[in-house]
Amino acid sequence: MFEGLSKRLGDVFDKLRGRGALSEADVDAALREVRTALLEADVALPVVRQFVDEVRPKAIGADVIRSVTPGQMVIKIVNDHLVEMLGGTVADLDLGAIPPVVILMVGLQGSGKTTSSAKIAYRLSQGPQGMAAEMFGGTFSTRRKVLMASLDTRRPAAQHQLKVLGEQTGVPTLPIVPLEMPLAITRRALETAKREGFDVLILDTAGRLSIDEELMKEVADISDLAKPKETLLVADAMTGQDAVNVAKAFNDRLAVTGIVLTRVDGDARGGAALSMRAVTGRPVKLIGVGEKFDALEPFHPDRIASRILGMGDIVSLVERAAETIDKEDAEKLAAKVRKGQFDMDDLLNQLRQLRKMGGLSGLMGMLPGAMQAKAAMSKAKIDEGQLKRQEAVILAMTPKERRNPDLIHASRKKRIAKGSGVQVQDVNKLLKQHADMLKMMKRVNKLGEKGFMRSLGG
Ligand code: GDP
Repeated sequence: MFEGLSKRLGDVFDKLRGRGALSEADVDAALREVRTALLEADVALPVVRQFVDEVRPKAIGADVIRSVTPGQMVIKIVNDHLVEMLGGTVADLDLGAIPPVVILMVGLQGSGKTTSSAKIAYRLSQGPQGMAAEMFGGTFSTRRKVLMASLDTRRPAAQHQLKVLGEQTGVPTLPIVPLEMPLAITRRALETAKREGFDVLILDTAGRLSIDEELMKEVADISDLAKPKETLLVADAMTGQDAVNVAKAFNDRLAVTGIVLTRVDGDARGGAALSMRAVTGRPVKLIGVGEKFDALEPFHPDRIASRILGMGDIVSLVERAAETIDKEDAEKLAAKVRKGQFDMDDLLNQLRQLRKMGGLSGLMGMLPGAMQAKAAMSKAKIDEGQLKRQEAVILAMTPKERRNPDLIHASRKKRIAKGSGVQVQDVNKLLKQHADMLKMMKRVNKLGEKGFMRSLGG
């Protein structure tokens, strides 16, 4: 088994501990390890390249928060991007249409198509029964009447195999008519499903050993006739790199709507999920985790991301650290406020944080005793551009002026306005805003939080 990425990056970054922002050289050293980890997790090479190219600009210049090492920071950035690339959240099956809704199952022979058909049919017909709600969210929240039909006339035993699975799972299958061709079976299946009031019709198509044109055309014709709401590409997680070419071929030819990744139970690495998603742009919707027909699960991008990176705790560790930092900063600020020392540098920090968080609530949540002011300030419109201008104004001040804004008189205001590309009145406005905040904070200190609120209310 390969080493976790966290250990590898730990080694790379041990000597860099304590630096401010991630430099280009740090990031490149880290991304070399990321690249190896992804390849070891069986992610296809072009996908690895794409991933590294996308994550690099995100990591360079990123601030390393205090309580974590640069290696952990990179892992957090890599992990977040990985989750995003895997689709972010669980993708449900889309079964919202006039019944019977058709699900077309396609894929290579042996990929687990027939087994997956039966698993999905079983789960749909069971509904939420016997299943933790979080396991299956929207897709399986109601019981559905499901019919299965095998269109595989190539392999003599295929239709029979589905029939047996149907009997085991208690899901009806379309009666077998010997020598009937795939399109004719499709037509009969559609008619039967309509006539007998089925909600969902699952069509299991013929497998193929490799992409061959004749079979591709057959499945395309079936798709034209059946107009499936979902076309699920079934792929074996163990086949890794090969699966990617197959996925691409199917996706080019058919409107694939989702991927079912099978044998995830046998592949601890999870790289195929990323490859499949990246190459097709289609979400992995379900994963097969065993041979039994209840061994089907929704696909959780965050879980697979942890698996690919060979870590588990690092991400939550970094998240906790980020929270700690926020708390540390807030406490420091509170101490300054108590001493009446909230200066322009503090305001600058706050403006930056505000911009990062994209809202006022974060800032006000950190200021002690400012609940009332929060309501008042959220009414004032603060847009991104304004925040940037205010930052520029503060940056145009000398360090001395920032510590003590009382020093800023008319001529200095003009210089600051010029230096930051704003009008003098904008400088005035910012100074007043700071003065008001300071006044308010002093009042909070004097009256205590409760008294301050009373004074606002009264
Ligand atoms: P098809 O040719 O694509 O229809 O493939 P099958 O459905 O016949 O599956 C081929 C083999 O893979 C069977 O022995 C299945 O039991 C097995 N299989 C399918 N899905 C999974 C899975 O998620 N995990 C494991 N361990 N085996 C699976």
